[in-house]
Order: sequence, then C-alpha cells, then structure tokens
Amino acid sequence: MKPATIKNQVSSGGVIFRPGNNSAEVALVAVRDMSVWCLPKGIIDRGEKPEETAIREVREETGLNGRIIEKIGDTSYWYYIKEENARCRKTVHFYLMEYQNGSTSDHDEEVNDASWFPIDEAICKVSYKGDRAILEKAREMIKKVNRLRIY
Ligand code: ATP
Repeated sequence: MKPATIKNQVSSGGVIFRPGNNSAEVALVAVRDMSVWCLPKGIIDRGEKPEETAIREVREETGLNGRIIEKIGDTSYWYYIKEENARCRKTVHFYLMEYQNGSTSDHDEEVNDASWFPIDEAICKVSYKGDRAILEKAREMIKKVNRLRIY
C-alpha cells in the first residue's frame, strides 16, 4: 500500500455554561452510538470565522445559543481516514460561551444526545483528554468571570 497522505483539518467548538446549584453546568454531546461524550465542535466552513463556527456548531449540536466570552485554547490530535489512506492532523479552537437560550432537546441528528452536566462531572465524563484539559481551563475561567460579577 502507498504511504498515507497527510491532511490538515481545522474545527471550532465551545464550552457553553450556565449557573447550576453549587457550580456551573456545561453542555456535552454524545456521539458514536453514545460511546463517546465530548465537547460540541465542527469543521470551519469556507469564509467562516472560528468564532462563528463555534456559535453555529454549539447551536446545531446542543440546541443552545451562547455568547462568546473569550478563547479557551486549542486541542490537536491525529487520526487515520481509511477510505483516503490519509493521516489527518486536526486542530480544534475552543471558546468559552455564556448560555443565552435554547434547549438540549433541540440537538440535531448528528449527535446521539446533548445534556447539561455540573462542570466537575463533565470533566470526568468526557472521553478525550484534549476535551478534559479544555474543560479544566474553562472551570478556572468561569470562576474568574463569576468573581468579577460578584464584586
Ligand atoms: P467535526 O466534528 O470536526 O466535523 P468529525 O466528527 O468528522 O469532526 P472527529 O470528531 O474529529 O471527526 O473524529 C475523527 C476521529 O478522531 C475519530 O476516530 C474520533 O474518535 C477521534 N477523535 C475525536 N476527537 C478526538 C480528540 N479530542 N482526541 C483524540 N481523538 C479524537
């Protein structure tokens, strides 16, 4: 077999949060027959800004509308596309988003489920360590936003 070709993909997604009982809650989506829980994200369309993609993908995948507060960071990983014999390096930009309106029952068919979780539970629940690192950073950023609001 020929050596694999190399591809690059860039996606964008978000950590959308709302106040919970004792801590913030964040939305996760379930994919791959419910076997994987992850942050909502998707490919940046031509002409789209990463911020626009994050808002669009969060809305489509979770049914929730949010307002971007700031960038959290990026994750990257490699995966293999069998049909193309290609090794793909994917970079995903993540933004912290404040929940405005919408319901997780309006998530699209691309995902198996969408649900709110207390942030500590979400950190345990996500399947990929890249998502976990983004959520840990988001937890600190949310604390800071809340402190600024209280005082
Ligand atoms: P997008 O949501 O950006 O349109 P997609 O659903 O087509 O992307 P990915 O979610 O990137 O594709 O999944 C492609 C492969 O990478 C799958 O095998 C998946 O299990 C794996 N994968 C997805 N996210 C991560 C991650 N954060 N870390 C490692 N591997 C991942």
